Amino acid sequence: MNENNYTPVPNFIRNIIAEDMETNKYQGRVHTRFPPEPNGYLHIGHAKSICLNFGLAAENKGGLCNLRFDDTNPSKEDVEYVDSIMEDVRWLGFDREDRLFYASDYFEQLYQYAMQLTKAGKAYVCDLSAEEMREYRGTLTEPGKDSPYRIRSIEENLDLFERMRAGEFEDGSRTLRAKIDMASPNLNMRDPVMYRILRAEHHRTGNKWCIYPMYDYTHCLSDSIEGITHSICTLEFEDHRPLYDWFLDELGVYHPQQIEFARLNLNYTVMSKRRLLELVEQGYVKGWDDPRMPTLSGLRRRGYTPESIRNFCERIGVAKRDSMVDVALLEHCLREDLNKRAQRVMGVLRPLKVVIDSYPEDQVEELDAINNPEDPAMGTRKVPFSRVLYVEREDFREDPPKKFYRLAPGREVRLRYAYYITCVNVVKDEKTGEVVELHCTHDPATRGGDSPDGRKVKATLHWVSAPHSLEAEVRLYDRLLTVQKPSDESEDADYKDYLNPDSLQVLTSCRVEPSLEGAAPGSRYQFERQGYFCVDYDSSDKKLIFNRAVSLRDTWAKIEKAQKK
Ligand code: ATP
Ligand code: MG
Repeated sequence: MNENNYTPVPNFIRNIIAEDMETNKYQGRVHTRFPPEPNGYLHIGHAKSICLNFGLAAENKGGLCNLRFDDTNPSKEDVEYVDSIMEDVRWLGFDREDRLFYASDYFEQLYQYAMQLTKAGKAYVCDLSAEEMREYRGTLTEPGKDSPYRIRSIEENLDLFERMRAGEFEDGSRTLRAKIDMASPNLNMRDPVMYRILRAEHHRTGNKWCIYPMYDYTHCLSDSIEGITHSICTLEFEDHRPLYDWFLDELGVYHPQQIEFARLNLNYTVMSKRRLLELVEQGYVKGWDDPRMPTLSGLRRRGYTPESIRNFCERIGVAKRDSMVDVALLEHCLREDLNKRAQRVMGVLRPLKVVIDSYPEDQVEELDAINNPEDPAMGTRKVPFSRVLYVEREDFREDPPKKFYRLAPGREVRLRYAYYITCVNVVKDEKTGEVVELHCTHDPATRGGDSPDGRKVKATLHWVSAPHSLEAEVRLYDRLLTVQKPSDESEDADYKDYLNPDSLQVLTSCRVEPSLEGAAPGSRYQFERQGYFCVDYDSSDKKLIFNRAVSLRDTWAKIEKAQKK
């Protein structure tokens, strides 16, 4: 056990670090970093990386983890993203303390390193256009061709690179490239671009620079400058590792080690910032924090707790091979957490009026209700009971099928914490035939929900007192996509063809018990028999709004059971 109260399960990265600690490879240091590019909001995949990097630091004595913005692409980056990322990391429960860094803070140092490589004949200024460069690059099966500018003298390269910085050349007209090997079987090693000319205002450096360093060049050196020990990234960077190593070796600077792991993929959703941005910009969702989005801000708004997400990240583990995780596991982790913590309340989503004919018209009783059967310390509360109630429309069937044990004409059921009631009459709308009201009688001897004569009822329903209840809007969410993985459906499938048209359903005349008056945005409840709900940010005293975080039905438990068989 460690400070985070869990015993880490071994995985290949934990094993590498344990071994490095034993051999004293980095003088007993573990220093990781989480390096987002501020070009979008963080998603659940990033949570995996955050938990891994911050988790490894926390698990090891004296371990540190930096939050570093990889901000080398000014045309796509924005302070809105920087702010949201900082908030999300904090919300997930990780404290970067004073270790906040920006790759842009290293621009001058990176420039100096680039001069150093140029002086050593390891970098050159190239005048090929982007298209020509592609042609010269070759393919996976064919080697590339040397750029005609590869043979420029060191003096000319130094002069041109200085003038690139000084703004003497047009955007895109020249690049600085590493001089490695155009015949390398690894395309990343075929003289990759280190700097491009781009006149774009940067969110931190403004217009100071008109040349910007490329990701591969920036990343390894940022790691080196910060004294990172284990630079953990996703598998697609495996082929970039030789380049990571090349820059550090050629410059002879401190050399962290890059380790790759499989990124998180989740079914029924999309998980790349490019696509998430598209959903936002094209109005398919209501923003980055739309509760249908797999972003951390969306999950938070939906009702996810940081604990449930951290637990999910621990349970999915860390491996070297790509796989698809079932979103049911994420939902399961949330239920598990909220089951322990969320207060139970009663809320009726689709109300059906019930009049208890036998109950005095002006009487109101305050009945005791248990706040959380999992946690007696959470105590009890009073819920008002009166002659006119609402129950869930789907809890009544005029013509009940087999195994439907809830309300039906002549049927007796229990109202939770209240009385046994029996349905004696059904009122219908004359025109539509729709059931609009039920008339019932109650048995006063069953107050609290038990019958002294021991007779049994097969169903217990939730309810609210009509005059005491509060109106609420409830937003029901379903999966963003109708299929697990669009690319499995057809080769040229676009995920937008599979957007679930029913991913949001808004119920506007729900009724909830009066204890929810003034419920604070962000607070989470279990609506008995319905699921877990979170008060939306748009909720107010005038209008309560709840998001359904997850229903009570646990499909993951079923999957797990089936797997064990
Ligand atoms: P996306 O592919 O969603 O656009 P990205 O990789 O471009 O994400 P970055 O901001 O570069 O986003 O990512 C920051 C860190 O998070 C990187 O170390 C990256 O490897 C990691 N990361 C991104 N997506 C995932 C994922 N799905 N699972 C695990 N780690 C991820
Ligand atoms: Mg990226």
